Amino acid sequence: MLVFRLIILLLLAYVIFVIISTFFFSSRTRRLKGSKDRPDLDQELVLCLHCQSYVPQTEAVFSRGGYFCSAECARLFVRAP
Ligand SMILES: [Zn+2]
Repeated sequence: MLVFRLIILLLLAYVIFVIISTFFFSSRTRRLKGSKDRPDLDQELVLCLHCQSYVPQTEAVFSRGGYFCSAECARLFVRAP
């Protein structure tokens, strides 16, 4: 009878282990997915030559050998001689 109780205990421990590991892995993958949803943190910032503000490189306007935050800034920028 003791062996039977031991098997039940082992089964119970195994079930608890599976539940905990499933929860742990699912929460970890959710966290990884969450970081992938925010690519802004990995984006490189460039300095607008006209108004000196930082903008993500993907949103910046490249003109006259420099980055600008907008087409308006690129138009207004006058390079120092
Ligand atoms: Zn600007």
